Amino acid sequence: MASQRALSRHALIVIDIQNDFLPGGALAINEGDLILPTVNALLQQDFTAVIASRDWHPEHHISFTAQGGPWPVHCVAGTSGAAFAPGLDQRSLTHIIHKGTRESCDSYSAFFDNEQQASTGLDALLRGFYIEKVTLCGLALDVCVAATARDARSQGFETSIALNACKGIAADETPCLQELSELGIKLITS
Ligand SMILES: [Zn+2]
Repeated sequence: MASQRALSRHALIVIDIQNDFLPGGALAINEGDLILPTVNALLQQDFTAVIASRDWHPEHHISFTAQGGPWPVHCVAGTSGAAFAPGLDQRSLTHIIHKGTRESCDSYSAFFDNEQQASTGLDALLRGFYIEKVTLCGLALDVCVAATARDARSQGFETSIALNACKGIAADETPCLQELSELGIKLITS
């Protein structure tokens, strides 16, 4: 029955599949492009809502090295680096969430900023659709996907990460995966 998955009120959240995070980009994740076919296949499945996040920074964002932050300039709002990767199949996206939009605070999670103060609106969006379960995929596994998963879990959503549709930065992902697993986050293969 085609509607069975939809009845379970399940959202897919696709994290930061943007040019700057792919090979050739300003903050490229090694082999980040290799997950695109898997992400696109996941996008074909039946979800109640399909949300994509974009890292979306002002020009002098606090996360950039010139401002004392850890990262090179990346994903400046409206630039080609901040655009979705051309290989991402956007047809089934129902919503786009922007994060890191305030100059004075970074946001790894698609829910809340790193100070856990400002919300992107994702929480209210999911509750508006009576979502119970979320599946996450995208970039980078050990940074923004992990942070989003922690917040999803703490907000009470049944949370899974499709590991084969993610790519991380750390050479060894084991400690991160262990921590997420201990939080009750399911690590799955889509
Ligand atoms: Zn960023």
